[in-house]
Amino acid sequence: MPSACPPRIAVIGAGITGLACASRLAAAGLPSVVFDKSRGLGGRIATRRASDGLTFDHGAQFATARGPAFAGYMRDAMTRGAARLWTTSGTSDGEPRYLGSPGMSALVRPLAENLDIRSRHTLTSLRRSGCEWQLSFAETARTEVADIVALCLPAPQVGALVQGFPDAMTALSGVEIAPCWALMVAFETAGPAPALPDVLVPDAGPLSWIASESAKPGRTDAPPRLVLHASAKWSTANLELGDEAATRALLAALRDSVGMSLPGIAHASAHRWRHAKTLTSLGAPFLSIEANTLFAGGDWCLGARVECGFDSGFALAERIAETVP
Ligand SMILES: Cc1cc2nc3c(=O)[nH]c(=O)nc-3n(C[C@H](O)[C@H](O)[C@H](O)COP(=O)(O)OP(=O)(O)OC[C@H]3O[C@@H](n4cnc5c(N)ncnc54)[C@H](O)[C@@H]3O)c2cc1C
Repeated sequence: MPSACPPRIAVIGAGITGLACASRLAAAGLPSVVFDKSRGLGGRIATRRASDGLTFDHGAQFATARGPAFAGYMRDAMTRGAARLWTTSGTSDGEPRYLGSPGMSALVRPLAENLDIRSRHTLTSLRRSGCEWQLSFAETARTEVADIVALCLPAPQVGALVQGFPDAMTALSGVEIAPCWALMVAFETAGPAPALPDVLVPDAGPLSWIASESAKPGRTDAPPRLVLHASAKWSTANLELGDEAATRALLAALRDSVGMSLPGIAHASAHRWRHAKTLTSLGAPFLSIEANTLFAGGDWCLGARVECGFDSGFALAERIAETVP
């Protein structure tokens, strides 16, 4: 790369990993361009607005902060009104849980400030040409170029882009990620809310998580809503079920889990997270694919939590900053 100019850096993915990476690079005086295939920010830290206007946090349910870097970020996000503490009934581990405010996707908002983010850009291939990377996207015929590329995507999506790098493919083959079917349910406003705790964590059956959206701070607007997550086992076994069949199956599982009749249902829709939760991580904060110019990061490097993505993106940015003259 020409030494007089700052390197052209492309960050692929505007989930917490990519945004933490780009934000840390910016703090080090290294601008980057972030590309994401979707319209919004946050990736699996997601808030869905259904056609009837109801909102659901159907991906990550909350964040925990076990290390100083992410704890510092959460304090900052709370000061800015982008996060709140969530005190729940139905759980007992005592670890503080943070929510995005007004929805989970807001949790990444402070990281995204002042970044150059291009939505609706799905990276389909990257090719080395001389000293630079050429990036092709599904939505445009225009090729972008970069000196350094950080792929901040789930491991299988990284794998699809780096098949020509056998060492990277070997490292990625050790990473295991389970899918998760989510169900979003709203009850008819006229009926009573089901008498459930804020959170239920069933230890058997198809469901692994039942949370009351309406019990979360700042989300108490009617009607009562639930988000359900199916277990990794059930989600894997039923991965190719259609949305409607998954909705029917998970509603039946809800009735079985709570052991009571439910009020009338006004809304029920399912969402499949194909790459949801890391089962086996890489065991290192990021993957270096091509010396100092191509890297990959994500929660899967370190674990299955939001903080793992933040730490991965942060470490990746520090590494890039070290390599730039
Ligand atoms: C159902 C569910 C429940 C969860 N619950 C919790 C929880 O309670 N607590 C917790 O800490 N964690 C939870 N997690 C995990 C948490 O969501 C992740 O650890 C974290 O969001 C990972 O962030 P990431 O940036 O690494 O990946 P992602 O959030 O997946 O971000 C990747 C981004 O890359 C984009 N992308 C993908 N392919 C391309 C491409 N080819 N070109 C351009 N862009 C692309 C995507 O659109 C996405 O925005 C949960 C996850 C799921 C799915």
